[in-house]
Amino acid sequence: MASSRKRVVIVGGGVGGVATAYALRHLMKNLDIVLVSDRDKFTFTPSLPHVAVLDKNPKGIQAELGKILPRRNIQFIHSKAEEVDPDTQKVKLANGQVLEYDYLVFATGAKLKWEPTVEIEEGAKIYSICNLEHALETREAVHDLIKNPGPVVVGSIPGTSCFGPLYEFAFMLDYRLRKHHIRHKVDMNIVTSEPYLGYAGLGGIGPSKRYLEDITMEKTIWTYPNAKVKKVGKDYVEFAICDEDGKEKKTIQLESKLTMLMPYFEGPDVIKSAGDKVANPKGFVKTNRCMYVPDYPNIYGVGVCVAIPPVQKTPIPTGTPKTGQMIEGMAVAVAHNIYNDIKNIPEKVAPKLPAICIADFGDKGFFVLADPVIPPRNKVLYKEGRWAHWMKEIFEKYFMFKVKAIKNITPWFEELGLKIMFDIEYIEPCKECSGPTGSRC
Ligand SMILES: Cc1cc2nc3c(=O)[nH]c(=O)nc-3n(C[C@H](O)[C@H](O)[C@H](O)COP(=O)(O)OP(=O)(O)OC[C@H]3O[C@@H](n4cnc5c(N)ncnc54)[C@H](O)[C@@H]3O)c2cc1C
Repeated sequence: MASSRKRVVIVGGGVGGVATAYALRHLMKNLDIVLVSDRDKFTFTPSLPHVAVLDKNPKGIQAELGKILPRRNIQFIHSKAEEVDPDTQKVKLANGQVLEYDYLVFATGAKLKWEPTVEIEEGAKIYSICNLEHALETREAVHDLIKNPGPVVVGSIPGTSCFGPLYEFAFMLDYRLRKHHIRHKVDMNIVTSEPYLGYAGLGGIGPSKRYLEDITMEKTIWTYPNAKVKKVGKDYVEFAICDEDGKEKKTIQLESKLTMLMPYFEGPDVIKSAGDKVANPKGFVKTNRCMYVPDYPNIYGVGVCVAIPPVQKTPIPTGTPKTGQMIEGMAVAVAHNIYNDIKNIPEKVAPKLPAICIADFGDKGFFVLADPVIPPRNKVLYKEGRWAHWMKEIFEKYFMFKVKAIKNITPWFEELGLKIMFDIEYIEPCKECSGPTGSRC
């Protein structure tokens, strides 16, 4: 690019894209930041189970990108990014525009996939809560279930990496059905590809296995771990229970009136279009621990679209989740590395990837802190209670306040609070940039 003012193009307007744009603007005034998103609104994804099960109004968890970004001097383009040429440093958009960039940040989230891993019978429906449209559709199915109760299957399929929402959905639904005094009319089942309940793609966190075994028994939810969902029919789910080597031991068919299954994720086509030096075979961005692509150091990845290897080999394949706080850490690291590069500062930083997560069950919930989230860990905290439900509500309001009203996604008081209360930090200097995202120096 001819101008000395550098341009960063960010593809995706979710947690990853918005956090990166804010962190960059906080560090640098003299920088063109363009965010391209195929959706015109930011959505706070962690509240989608509440939209689906507890009728939460989506308005409170959305913000118009066309308003919040220009206020911070960030240009917003509402279009889909279709193709990236990493050699000419150009992004082609669906609206015909071609954007040149000095730095490119992929923050596209993922494509949701059930097939071909799961066979879906004609006319059968797998419900989901992974985006707003899906959550609203699922909300209708929950309303139908309340009118005409019947069995429910909630679960994950081979390759799923995001397990938390599965448990939130199941426990919130249990709570809602109890409120309507119809829980005794609904057989609830959790069918999961995790080797044990609470594995969560992370080798478990603290006592997550024992805790989820207890709470599912307490709520009489039947559980089937190490299960490979094979087929979803109009009123049933068929799956195989596997042994420790992943061999199928027996096939079970459960009746189901409402089936909600967490999908497996793949990178969107725009990442694949950049070629196999940028995208791995699943279409995720191949970054190193400093979040840039070694073959194209001006291309970065943030969020769910980043390739992180599985934590362990499991009998049924599972992926590693990327949680909100991990994503904020990635965004802060990317912003620092772009800043350092522009200023010719040789140091690089890597996200430390701690994770604080609050799972809400409707009436109560649990709080978990894992630092780092990828084991082995220095610290694990795990607490449950009614307060966790309120904490998640407050966190949602706080995050939306940050997105709408604050200039930095990790304001100083948040960083100080996390340091004082939990001794956790978002980034650390990197001694050498080899190794995949999530690995340690
Ligand atoms: C249901 C659910 C609940 C979750 N709950 C929690 C939780 O409680 N706590 C937690 O820590 N984490 C949670 N997570 C995990 C994580 O925080 C979220 O998935 C988070 O939204 C991921 O952010 P992202 O920016 O990587 O992707 P996304 O939020 O998916 O954003 C990507 C954006 O990019 C856009 N996009 C995609 N392709 C293109 C393209 N080609 N051109 C332009 N735009 C494009 C998409 O439309 C989307 O708006 C949850 C995830 C899900 C699915």
